[in-house]
Amino acid sequence: MTCAWKNIKDKNLALTFSDGYIDFLNKCKTERTCIEFVKSSAEANGFKDIDAISSLKAGDKVYKVNRGKNIILARIGKEDIVNGTNIIASHIDSPRLDLKQHPLYEDSGLALFKTHYYGGLKKYQWTAIPLSLIGVVIDAEGNTINVNLGEDEGDPVLTITDLLPHLASDQMSKKMTEAFTGEDLNVLVGSMPHDDEEKTVKDAILDTIKEKYGFDEDDFISAELEIVPSFKAVSVGLDSSMVGSYGQDDRVCAYTSLMGIIDCADTNRTAICYLADKEEIGSVGNTGMMSRFFENFVAEIIEKSKGEYNDMYLRRALSASMCISADVAVALDPNYKSVSEEKNSAFIGGGLTMCKYTGARGKYSTSDANAEFVGKIRRMFDDAGIAWQTAELGKVDQGGGGTVAQFIANLDVDTIDVGVALLSMHAPFEIASKADVYTAYLGYKAFYEA
Ligand code: MN
Ligand code: MN
Repeated sequence: MTCAWKNIKDKNLALTFSDGYIDFLNKCKTERTCIEFVKSSAEANGFKDIDAISSLKAGDKVYKVNRGKNIILARIGKEDIVNGTNIIASHIDSPRLDLKQHPLYEDSGLALFKTHYYGGLKKYQWTAIPLSLIGVVIDAEGNTINVNLGEDEGDPVLTITDLLPHLASDQMSKKMTEAFTGEDLNVLVGSMPHDDEEKTVKDAILDTIKEKYGFDEDDFISAELEIVPSFKAVSVGLDSSMVGSYGQDDRVCAYTSLMGIIDCADTNRTAICYLADKEEIGSVGNTGMMSRFFENFVAEIIEKSKGEYNDMYLRRALSASMCISADVAVALDPNYKSVSEEKNSAFIGGGLTMCKYTGARGKYSTSDANAEFVGKIRRMFDDAGIAWQTAELGKVDQGGGGTVAQFIANLDVDTIDVGVALLSMHAPFEIASKADVYTAYLGYKAFYEA
């Protein structure tokens, strides 16, 4: 068992780094709020919108935002891009509840929102906790209205009610997949009667929405409003050695790979930091990893750094590239050891977790990294003094899952999963080790600089 704390010269470096990480988590609970944070951090560190630049040279730093939900950053290397790039790809979407297109209704004198859950979640974990509402509404005239409720001190929060144990004997005897259904995840949003006795509690909520945000009921149709946990990211443990927060899958890798590309020295090869949307629902759509947005950006760099473009440049650049798919791994949980196989498990505080493969049912749907490439990454981390461990996603046939790795590997790029191990993954409050968070930052920085 490796110990990341022992590899770090001064434990305070890890603790201090995590203060910045906690601040990021508190500002970035949705993919859109992540983009705002990343874009302004990038600009503050000399990155420019690639669309505003006509030619690129070594040392230039650029970014491009994709539809407000996905961003890519690059540092142009000294070497010709056709000789390959060093890519780190993570994702900034997390499991949550999305409001439906017709969300608002009234039942038994209460106003509620209908939701459709996004990503893999255990539905019971979303009841009886404070919830925030964050997102955008595009009104009938095309104006963008930002909504952010439940995050500021003194803000009201929303919640999903649960049954009292006294009356839960039917519920408690059900299977967990049946006890909480998707259509039960209705969010409590109001209870005050309208001043006009002819009108309903729902009408009163619509008036409040109009007053507070300026939009109408129909505008929910063109909105992306997300329900996320309200509680703040905090230190965990008597020793404050861990971070507890919503959304660490995969914002832990997003933050550390972002800080890595901001802080790294001028690179030999072009370094790329890709923050994807839609990973939790299969990397689909024009903001997911399978979108041509990634290739289009690399093509843009080629055209602007070489002064000309042809498809062979792009194909050669990708073929000679290497990629870390930076996503979280499962840490062995002492309460649930039976789902893991200890000899091939990651441990909290064990450093960066390298997964040669993910997938399920006999490595189905994984890009199993080449032994040669695993060897190269292993040597790179050893040379840089980075603590690392290897892991599988649980016991064989226990379940499984995937990352963006396979989609980048499909572009003929050497790709391996290297991320941070979490406890309570996909829960509203996930746990990471501060030593692992800091080690990820150091490891990703070393990879960009390789
Ligand atoms: Mn993930
Ligand atoms: Mn996930």
